[in-house]
Amino acid sequence: MKIIDAHSHIDYITHKHQSDVVGTVCCATAENQWVELINLINADKNIFGAFGIHPWFIENVSDDFDLRLEKLLQTDSGYMIGEIGLDKYKPDMDKQLYVFVKQFDVAVKLKRTVFLHCVGAWDKILHVLKQYKTSELPIIVAHAFSGSDDIVNKLLQYDNIFFSFNKIDTNGRNSRIEHISDDKILVETDGKSNIILTDLINQIARIKNKSNMGEIIFDNTQRLLKK
Ligand SMILES: [Zn+2]
Repeated sequence: MKIIDAHSHIDYITHKHQSDVVGTVCCATAENQWVELINLINADKNIFGAFGIHPWFIENVSDDFDLRLEKLLQTDSGYMIGEIGLDKYKPDMDKQLYVFVKQFDVAVKLKRTVFLHCVGAWDKILHVLKQYKTSELPIIVAHAFSGSDDIVNKLLQYDNIFFSFNKIDTNGRNSRIEHISDDKILVETDGKSNIILTDLINQIARIKNKSNMGEIIFDNTQRLLKK
C-alpha cells in the first residue's frame, strides 16, 4: 500500500517511521515553527508544508502575522495553510476568530489548501465560509473530523472539502464515515506515532466494503496536493 499522511506535525515525519507511508503533510502551528518547517521541506521532497497559527497558540501572534503568512506563501506555490481554525474549549474565541479569518483570507487570496482544526465550532466556521463566494473557496481539509451527519451534509455543499480521519470508532459516531463518499476521505496521524495508517485504512476498507480503499485514499491525497 502507498499512503500519504494528510496531517502531521514537524516532530513526526510519518514516512520516516511507517513503511507504507511515502509522504507527509506537515503542519506548523505557530510562527516560531515556520522557518523550521521550511528547512525540513527543503531537505525532503516528500514533506508537503502547511503554515499557520493554530487556535491553541494565538496568544503571542505578531501584529502582522497575516502579512508574514502571505509573504511566506508567495515564496513557493506548493505551500499550504494550516493548521488553523477554532476550538470552543480554548480561551478567547473572539481572538481565535480574528486570527482564523485573517489566515483564511490569505488562503482565499492565494488559492491555497487549508488544513482546518474545528472543535465544537462548526456553526462559526460555516458562517465564515458563507462570507465568500463558493467559487473562490480553497480546498479545505477538515482534520480529525468528528462532526455530526448534519455538519457533514452542510459541508458537502462545497465541492472542495475533504474529511481527514485519525481514528475509527465503529461502534460510535464514526459510523459517519459510511455517509462520506470515498473520494472525500483522507487519513492522518496528527503527529501521533501510535496511529498506524495502514491499519486505519484497513479499518476504513472494512466499513466501506472496498478492497481498494488504499488506492482511493492515495488518489484523494494526490488531488489535494495537485501532484
Ligand atoms: Zn494537528
